[in-house]
Amino acid sequence: MNPTGKVTYISLSADDPAIDAAFGTAIAAVRAELGKSHALHVAGETRPGHVVIDSSNPADARQVVARVAGAGEADLRDAVAAARAAFPAWSARPWQERVAIVERAAEIVRQKKFELSAWLIFEMGKNRVEALGEIEETADLLAYYAGQMRSADGYVLQMDRLAPTDQNTSVLRPYGVWAVIAPWNFPYALLGAPIAAALLTGNTVVCKPSSETPLSAVKLTEIFEAAGVPPGVLSCLPGSGRVVGDGLIAHPDVAGVTFTGSYDVGFNQLYRRFARDFPKPCIVEMGGKNPALVMPSADLAQAIQGVQRSAFGMNGHKCSACSRVFVHRAVADEFIAGLARAADAVAPGDPLDKGVFVGPVATRQSYEDYQRYVALARTAGASVVRAGAAVLTDGARAHGYFVRPTVLADLPPDHPLLRDELFVPIVAVQVVDSLDHALAAANDTKFGLTAGLFSREPKEIDTFFERIEAGVVYVNRAAGATTGAWPGVQPFGGWKGSGSTGKNIGGHYTLLCYLREQSRTVCQ
Ligand code: NAD
Repeated sequence: MNPTGKVTYISLSADDPAIDAAFGTAIAAVRAELGKSHALHVAGETRPGHVVIDSSNPADARQVVARVAGAGEADLRDAVAAARAAFPAWSARPWQERVAIVERAAEIVRQKKFELSAWLIFEMGKNRVEALGEIEETADLLAYYAGQMRSADGYVLQMDRLAPTDQNTSVLRPYGVWAVIAPWNFPYALLGAPIAAALLTGNTVVCKPSSETPLSAVKLTEIFEAAGVPPGVLSCLPGSGRVVGDGLIAHPDVAGVTFTGSYDVGFNQLYRRFARDFPKPCIVEMGGKNPALVMPSADLAQAIQGVQRSAFGMNGHKCSACSRVFVHRAVADEFIAGLARAADAVAPGDPLDKGVFVGPVATRQSYEDYQRYVALARTAGASVVRAGAAVLTDGARAHGYFVRPTVLADLPPDHPLLRDELFVPIVAVQVVDSLDHALAAANDTKFGLTAGLFSREPKEIDTFFERIEAGVVYVNRAAGATTGAWPGVQPFGGWKGSGSTGKNIGGHYTLLCYLREQSRTVCQ
């Protein structure tokens, strides 16, 4: 816990009697609700939906966590039409009222944090610290954005005059209907935050969660509704990427989009296709291939812990996960041996248990990907695999997606495992001869999300900041070499193939991405 008493991503545990008791109560309450059906929330009403999406528990894939109504094309049309119809009134409302609604939503998230965390553990397999961290982050993101709106005074600025009779004002105004498309790895934070940003700035929203985590979106929509978001201003459309995601992108009345997810979908299927007749704002937050650089002056224990937490924490399911390490030859043997020991020490288990560092990987797809990558590594050479590289099917792990954190070393430099985002607990270590060499290798990727350096040389730290191509960078961070950003603390976003705006989320400039400027001159 940090000094505020809040569990965040840099907390080492949530081991506290009050937290244990609250989790115990929440987990029991959620167990009693498992498998229930949830309706669609479209245009201010609930509906049975077009299909049913079964959300299952990755720790025991036989268990259905929730049966969530999924949207079809007619639901999509109705949701966009309702958002369009609601836009004039919502955008005309005093910004202070929108701030109050989003702040209420943040407060409800805080009040329900143990219940929502328990649902998240069942739906996605996060451990207690990660689940509680995400719910706290969601509340903080909402509150932070509300605070940004307030401190910008609604983004109305008096400008200079060219003539004494002129009155000149700059006003930032919303675009209209905003689509929010979210991934499964932070299903509350990465759906809730863009919804809040769009609503605060006066846009209306149609959102689509991942089909892997549809329940999170239902819960969040209910919270925004309870906080006072009027009918039609926010609709939620669980459903496939092809029908709902693509349908939103193609809809002419969708004025802007925030997508968080993979490069392939975000860039190839969305960014390149979204604008048709004229430019439209397209915020795509995508993947990473995040490097950690370890130099001879590093505190190796700190570096090993930092990489272990970033590569294996949440099973590598973070866009910021550390997936490549460039270690200086002088300390390489010691570092690799230490990291392999740290990987071997991780015992994946039931994420509901309080001491568990990692649970199952979150999806069937991740489980299959992991096995495919391990096979590729083995084909690359017997000495490549230094730790892990096995699935776990014993005892209580028989029906879940449990895998061993894996360390690879000495892959050929052009190997796909060093190039592609893996998104599972596999980290590849490469030996380098200098910081120059490490920086060149680290930057040799289409991605540019996060990066970390371990060094006690001030000159190396300066060079790293100057030359690394990434939007979020850390030095000597044992709590996470490349992971663990927090709203208002480390604004989070990517360069190059990791993000489109050059402005990070949870930061000072986020809301500007949802607004367009109107310069107003009145002459007397
Ligand atoms: P994904 O790209 O497969 O899916 C993301 C969302 O897009 C889902 O809701 C999906 O249904 C939808 N979608 C799929 N096809 C679509 C289409 N043709 N049109 C519109 N929408 C479509 O990603 P994922 O597997 O859910 O999430 C993991 C990815 O997200 C990783 O690459 C990770 O790095 C990235 N991510 C990035 C950030 C960030 O802030 N940069 C944060 C979290 C996750």
